[in-house]
Amino acid sequence: IVTATKPGSRDVREVAGQRLTHPDRLLWPNQGSDPGVSKADLAAYWQAVAERALPEIADRPLALVRCPDGIEGEHFFQKHKTRGMPDALREGSEDGAPFLALSDMAGLVAATQIGAIELHGWGSPGSDPAHADRLVFDLDPAEDLPFERSVEAALEVRRRLKVAGLECYPRTSGGKGLHVVAPITTQMDWDAVRAWCRSFAESMERDAPELFVSSTRKTRRTGRILIDWLRNGLGSTAVASYSPRARPGAPVATPLSWREVTPKLDIKAFSIRTVPARLRKADPWLDFDRDRRELKPTKK
Ligand code: ATP
Ligand code: MN
Ligand code: MN
Repeated sequence: IVTATKPGSRDVREVAGQRLTHPDRLLWPNQGSDPGVSKADLAAYWQAVAERALPEIADRPLALVRCPDGIEGEHFFQKHKTRGMPDALREGSEDGAPFLALSDMAGLVAATQIGAIELHGWGSPGSDPAHADRLVFDLDPAEDLPFERSVEAALEVRRRLKVAGLECYPRTSGGKGLHVVAPITTQMDWDAVRAWCRSFAESMERDAPELFVSSTRKTRRTGRILIDWLRNGLGSTAVASYSPRARPGAPVATPLSWREVTPKLDIKAFSIRTVPARLRKADPWLDFDRDRRELKPTKK
């Protein structure tokens, strides 16, 4: 529901009860026949996907990537509430780690209003930020690796998580790679969960060092896929499902079904323009909550 407010002030619109100033300002620039993506377009994207996206985003500790001058301007990674932020964005903290949170469509528009293009979520809910409710393995391929290698890596992560008793779901990062996300419950604290994820990634490197690397040190990454376990920890974030990315083409971090994870998958095809139409199909993460399994310390 996008309506012009006060006649005469055409540069302000009200969307979901929130003020959207400069609605025609482009966050993604126009290029040739591509008209770009304006603030109003981003708000319209959020309205189109809100029903599917909010369960992944609402009341989860977040950090924002703000690009007030569009994706070609400066990017700010922001975890604190600052002056001028709408009330629909609120702040919180857990054990000294600050975060932002939103609850509804108004919050998504408030994020759009301040140029927050990317939403990055903790792996724990706002109701209990000290305890993980998901693990995220971020698969970062070295330059020039065929996408097939990322697919193999995702399937191997899935196989190994299954051995550990966990179910998992794939998504595009909206960038170069894939994320594998495992819904969990756990009594373990974040340090223990982080250690579990680290040893999971290290075991992949130990068993296939020609394919996988578990350390972010650049020198070791050539020709391999980094199993980035650092998304898991108190205050650590991974891009939220359905969040756009501040990158050319307005890509979106898109939940997938495992059937889609094949070498034919075109990860660039998931964008602000194409993702709303996907929602007509069944939710590939429909069973995410039902597939929650308990993460337990590994016996040594
Ligand atoms: P790609 O497919 O391109 O790797 P990605 O989202 O996985 O996309 P990474 O660079 O692998 O990107 O991971 C960056 C992650 O680090 C983000 O998901 C984000 O949540 C987190 N992060 C932590 N601090 C920052 C920061 N200052 N700026 C951007 N991201 C940050
Ligand atoms: Mn990544
Ligand atoms: Mn990474």
